Amino acid sequence: MTTRATRPSRDVLAARSAELEGRSADDILRWAAEQYAPRLAFATGFGLEGCVIIDIAVRHGLPIDLFTLDTGLLFPETYDLWRRLEARYGVTIRAVTPLHTVSEQATREGGGLWGVDPDRCCELRKMQPLRVELEKHDAWISAIRRDQTPDRADSPVVGWDGKFGLVKINPLVRWTFDDVKAHVAKYDVPYNQMHDHGYPSIGCWPCTTAVAPGEDPRAGRWRGREKKECGLHLRPVT
Ligand code: SF4
Repeated sequence: MTTRATRPSRDVLAARSAELEGRSADDILRWAAEQYAPRLAFATGFGLEGCVIIDIAVRHGLPIDLFTLDTGLLFPETYDLWRRLEARYGVTIRAVTPLHTVSEQATREGGGLWGVDPDRCCELRKMQPLRVELEKHDAWISAIRRDQTPDRADSPVVGWDGKFGLVKINPLVRWTFDDVKAHVAKYDVPYNQMHDHGYPSIGCWPCTTAVAPGEDPRAGRWRGREKKECGLHLRPVT
């Protein structure tokens, strides 16, 4: 494995972020590919925003390494979307998997860990495999938007991800959910049909419920708990 590129200075990243702040997501992704491919990754969770990123990347022929964290606990509809995206765009979205299967985890940690200690479960099934995968890259792309959660409100377009030790690029930070839906409709982007049935935010099936009209779009994630993030994008940039 080749070693990572030297960390850019905080000032350089801040300047790049300021330059890209008013640019389109297409421009930001093109810049990211010019700077960091082939050591540039996009980890999709198959949300609407992630489908938009894949659509833009493929339409511009950008050499971005696409992968997903397959916890083994995704909805059947999500696995179906995964295959539909690959077929539509002619890409491979690699599966990055935890060290242990769900049944092995049950043997080692006890069954239904997500109900007992969801932070531990997310650490084992998402954070650890992501940490290993991102070691191979110099930069990664996220599909976060500033208006999704208070923690994401100050996310820059480009910054240093101190949690994983690489550059993080957020092409959709300025987008609203209406912008995302408009792009999906305009380009006929494949998406998870569950979004049409009360699931605006979809994660693993044990930790996702439908939301009622007017509820926060993420209210169905880890319902009844303070936890609202799996940790991937929590305080991402330092
Ligand atoms: S979202 Fe739930 S099931 Fe998935 S890894 Fe986190 S705690 Fe486990």
